[in-house]
Amino acid sequence: MIAEVVTPDELSKIAPVFGQPSFNNHEQVVFCHDKDTGLKAIIGIHNTVLGPALGGTRMWNYTNEGEALNDVLRLSRGMTYKSAISGLNLGGGKAVIIGNAQTDKTPELITRFGKFVNSLSGNYITAEDVGTTTADMDLIRDVTPYVTGISESRGGSGNPSPVTAYGVYMGMKAAAMHRFGSANLAGKKILVQGTGHVGETLISYLVKEGALLQISDINEQRMADVAAKYGVGIFTGDDLYSAEVDIYSPCALGATINDTTINKIKAKVIAGAANNQLAVENVHGRLLMEKGIAYAPDFLINAGGIINVYGEIAGYGKEEGLKRTENIYNTTLEIFYEAEANGITTNEAAMRIAQRRIDDRKKEIAK
Ligand code: NAD
Repeated sequence: MIAEVVTPDELSKIAPVFGQPSFNNHEQVVFCHDKDTGLKAIIGIHNTVLGPALGGTRMWNYTNEGEALNDVLRLSRGMTYKSAISGLNLGGGKAVIIGNAQTDKTPELITRFGKFVNSLSGNYITAEDVGTTTADMDLIRDVTPYVTGISESRGGSGNPSPVTAYGVYMGMKAAAMHRFGSANLAGKKILVQGTGHVGETLISYLVKEGALLQISDINEQRMADVAAKYGVGIFTGDDLYSAEVDIYSPCALGATINDTTINKIKAKVIAGAANNQLAVENVHGRLLMEKGIAYAPDFLINAGGIINVYGEIAGYGKEEGLKRTENIYNTTLEIFYEAEANGITTNEAAMRIAQRRIDDRKKEIAK
């Protein structure tokens, strides 16, 4: 059946892609559909100046298409800046599959998605994200070379979380250096929110250094297991954000720095793994600055995972990945310096440095 006719007047009001608030000069937005497998996916390629657009595939039960599109536009843009600030020769991209990862995912659907990735001839390279697994990446590898994060037994880089945690640890030490005059975290009171893949490894580094930890997780069993394993305390107060700590480390979910929490935060440093920690980047970034809280930009200090998978393209192993991740310490210090020198937030400073790298490369290409 042919879709109903839409009047010119109605059409003039529809701006489904370029009119989205999250649209930000994206190079390509590819809608993928396959009737047989039920696949509905969107691949967003934000920018390829520095290299092919790399970013994970998220499978999520979006309530509507607009939400999925908004997510892929926002996330792919984030990847451009994450890779640029991390010195990787990669552009920014991301994919979303619309559906419930628990009930709608089949090997056929994932394979079909892999074929769509292949059709972009390497302009987009995929990886694991929320709702997809290393096993899914292995299936995609059967139909395209443009995938990273495949299992170690197949020559991949395996689980990125430990490397991500190492980068967060480095970023936290740099922020401590800037705020307290020493990168030594021994004796510092630190609250880690989220004790999952990244949080747990981060906790292990912090315990080893002699930090005084409190942890929190909505998964009580996991929190109790981690507390027992590392001998750390569980946060028991009424309000986590008011905790009397030196450092707050969000390692669970995004947007925890928002209108409700910002005035309660007592920590002098914020450094964690969660993506998009600032509910509204400019507003909350600036408020943190005014309060004298040293904020280590999330997309910079949680880049260990992508530095790790980049090894699959650039041809380096885990050791080299960790070495490169260690450099997050220097980059974070550089960003604090740039921010202070220009009276801007650390988030703005990081974006500025990343954008400069993209612009310089663009000029080089044009020569
Ligand atoms: P994960 O799912 O393994 O762990 C997240 C933990 O946070 C879970 O234990 C969950 O129960 C807990 N949690 C959820 N909501 C919470 C809340 N309101 N309060 C306290 N705890 C809560 O995820 P992960 O791989 O450890 O990633 C953590 C964060 O870092 C995520 O935001 C992720 O997007 C980001 N990140 C991860 C990587 C990586 O390599 N895994 C890379 C970059 C960014």
